[in-house]
Amino acid sequence: MTIDNGQPFGKATNLVHGGTKRSQWGEVSEAIFLTQGFVYDTAEAAEARFLKAGEDEFIYARYGNPTVAMFEERMALLEGAEDGFACASGMAAVNGALTSMLKAGDHVVSARALFGSCLYILEDVLTRYGVEVTFVDGADLAQWEAALRPETKAVFFESMSNPTLELVDIEAVAALAHKVGATVVVDNVFSTPVYSKAIAQGADLVVYSTTKHVDGQGRCLGGVILGTREHIRGVVEPYMKHTGGSMSPFNAWIMLKGLETVGLRVRAQTEGAVALAEALADHPKVSRMIYPGHASHPQHALVQRQLGAGGTLVSFEVVGGKEAAFRLLNALQIVIISNNLGDAKSIATHPATTTHQRLKPEQRASLGIGDGMIRLSVGIEDPADIVRDVKQALDVV
Ligand SMILES: *Cc1c(COP(=O)(O)O)cnc(C)c1O
Repeated sequence: MTIDNGQPFGKATNLVHGGTKRSQWGEVSEAIFLTQGFVYDTAEAAEARFLKAGEDEFIYARYGNPTVAMFEERMALLEGAEDGFACASGMAAVNGALTSMLKAGDHVVSARALFGSCLYILEDVLTRYGVEVTFVDGADLAQWEAALRPETKAVFFESMSNPTLELVDIEAVAALAHKVGATVVVDNVFSTPVYSKAIAQGADLVVYSTTKHVDGQGRCLGGVILGTREHIRGVVEPYMKHTGGSMSPFNAWIMLKGLETVGLRVRAQTEGAVALAEALADHPKVSRMIYPGHASHPQHALVQRQLGAGGTLVSFEVVGGKEAAFRLLNALQIVIISNNLGDAKSIATHPATTTHQRLKPEQRASLGIGDGMIRLSVGIEDPADIVRDVKQALDVV
């Protein structure tokens, strides 16, 4: 969206107004078009729409819906992408982004540190259909370069890894991938759409689980695939609309309302994360503190260049292993124990026994996930209260 002189709106303006389509009633809040189908005035109109649905013309909610279209357009504006397709969950988006463009004989290079379900798609699903996948250490550019081949069709990585908060250099990996003509698919959840500049940095497709910061209030699953109009409408949409991974209009409405405040929430969460990182950096009961926005992070310069902020998650290793970590979790009074992230409520997770339980101990060790590690998704509570809560829990350890 632009104002009269053609100047595009800023992110904050787009988050509130982007993609809005008003009905004849002129509602202030975006309408929920909770309808599966659409009525045609004549048989000829139905025929014409099935032949070619124009802009703002809909056929069936699996193909598209006005509320969902508003959400897709607002996400695309936020990310600086031409278009987007909204999906039932983050995993529907990851699966759709990859499966829609791959076929037997293709080669994919992926970072090894992946969300469990992403790893399942790359390791178990794609390979079952004859796609070859090579895994690399995402932070090691030499490994990316060595793994890329002329038949490499796509590269995939999470731009900030879970739970060790290590960045993949989007610009550098995209430059290498584009040399062999590979499509760069970035799962950008931990970076958040608020700080992301992934498209400008060379990503071809950006995928979000909007379950996380975009909803940010623990209600609905959702996902989105963002990219060029040609790719989204030509490759992604045909696959998604025929295989059933579309977002429900009700969830799209929740996500639209989430987008109105996601900038405010993520910045407030970041402020809390900065305070928590500062408090834990030299704490005697913390052997390792990881926060991308802290000067101690080994990729601090890349964080500043790629995101400009450290994000909403802090991971730390408590001295004393699993027993100490559990004692800390059980002593928390404000921070809740759960496995989601990006929520308005602060959430603590013990990756080794929950999200990363299925990995073998040596796999966890190689990813740097110790038995004392806690991943803390900082919410929008008073930063001083979050710090106080974690500190008093550390006292109990
Ligand atoms: C949560 C998450 C997903 C999956 O999203 P769902 O909405 O739970 O399906 C994918 N990738 C990353 C990095 C995530 O954190």
